[in-house]
Amino acid sequence: MSATEFPKPVPKATPELLPFLDAARAGRLAVQRCGACGTLRFPPRELCSRCWSREVEWTDVSGRGEVFAFYVMHQVYHPGFVADVPYPVVVVKLDEGPTMVSNVVDCPREKLRIGLPVEVVFEEREGVALPKFRPRAP
Ligand SMILES: [Zn+2]
Repeated sequence: MSATEFPKPVPKATPELLPFLDAARAGRLAVQRCGACGTLRFPPRELCSRCWSREVEWTDVSGRGEVFAFYVMHQVYHPGFVADVPYPVVVVKLDEGPTMVSNVVDCPREKLRIGLPVEVVFEEREGVALPKFRPRAP
């Protein structure tokens, strides 16, 4: 089995995720903002976890942040990732507050650390722009 026989999965364009995917396709990183209290959140949710409002809008963020946590994936949960293991999965804390699970690209494994300043880049896969992060100057 090769990676080409099993392409990596891409997120489904659900109604909840569509504004995020549309923004990413245009090279922008977007998160939800509560229409009542202004709290930013990601991934998209129906209710604000701070004030429970259902009012929501989407807003662009800078795409800058830092590595909040990471782990190294050794297990193959999807055959599309056979050639990639072991690979790091990161939680990025965006400068604006929300966190996002993603990957870091253009970064040797030994340079990956908690607090590493990163910025978003978009990886095209099957017509979907996936946000990834790369190291940046602090
Ligand atoms: Zn709220």
